[in-house]
Amino acid sequence: MKLAGKVALVTGGSRGIGRACVQALAKEGAKVAFTYNSNSEAANNVVKELELDQREAIAFKADAADGQRAQEVIDAVVEKWGTLDILVNNAGIIKDGLLAAMSEENWLAVINTNLNSVYHYCHAGIRPMMSARKGRIINISSVAAHNGNPGQTNYAATKGGIEGFTRCLAKEVGRRGITVNAVAPGFIATDMTEAIRNAAEAEITKHIALKRLGQPEDIANAVVFFASDDSAYVTGHVMTVDGGLTLGSGM
Ligand code: NAD
Repeated sequence: MKLAGKVALVTGGSRGIGRACVQALAKEGAKVAFTYNSNSEAANNVVKELELDQREAIAFKADAADGQRAQEVIDAVVEKWGTLDILVNNAGIIKDGLLAAMSEENWLAVINTNLNSVYHYCHAGIRPMMSARKGRIINISSVAAHNGNPGQTNYAATKGGIEGFTRCLAKEVGRRGITVNAVAPGFIATDMTEAIRNAAEAEITKHIALKRLGQPEDIANAVVFFASDDSAYVTGHVMTVDGGLTLGSGM
């Protein structure tokens, strides 16, 4: 197991990509804490499933946009398990709409949940990592930051922000033995993409070189790579995991 004895925290871990990350990190031997926003039943099911498999897991109800709660969650994890080795900033939402009609409420909701959460959890989580002189931070971005999608100015702004943040923090904390990387998923089959999948899955698949949508586990595998010693000399990197969606036409 690549992560035996490590302590991990994943934001938004009760479903989708976050849940797959929780499961994959635990399978590699990490003790895994995760946050969720509202669905206690889903979160408890993830914990129960892992406990049945003799893994250690704990769920915290915490709005990712709440900085005080982020500090409480990090403190609770460090108190319970003594350290924080791996932080995965995964929580995210979409509130798509053309800019001309986008309310400030929808702009701010996405900025607060997707980007400000990364500040809150890194700000609180970096201290135990700096004390331990080791750590792995993995931020979940999106190919929307690279390509631009109409209707996603708010979302793409957060993901572009996350990528810049990742590079800056990587330079700040490299000397402390901490790596900071990002994963930029393409089109992954989760609740977030359900509506567009129902409307246009066949059309989208045509543009993916591997001719299938991504699964949450495809992203979790990249997260495990960045969490493990296999990536010990990689930092400030954004890994696109999109099945070739953004390769372009080559013409
Ligand atoms: P999802 O909607 O299935 O899951 C989102 C997760 O974020 C859930 O666990 C939810 O509880 C959590 N979350 C949302 N708001 C929260 C809040 N305020 N506080 C705490 N947790 C909150 O979506 P997903 O596809 O699993 O998305 C996970 C991440 O991957 C997001 O950052 C998303 O932007 C990114 N991503 C997804 C895709 C895709 O195609 N699905 C593509 C690129 C990037």
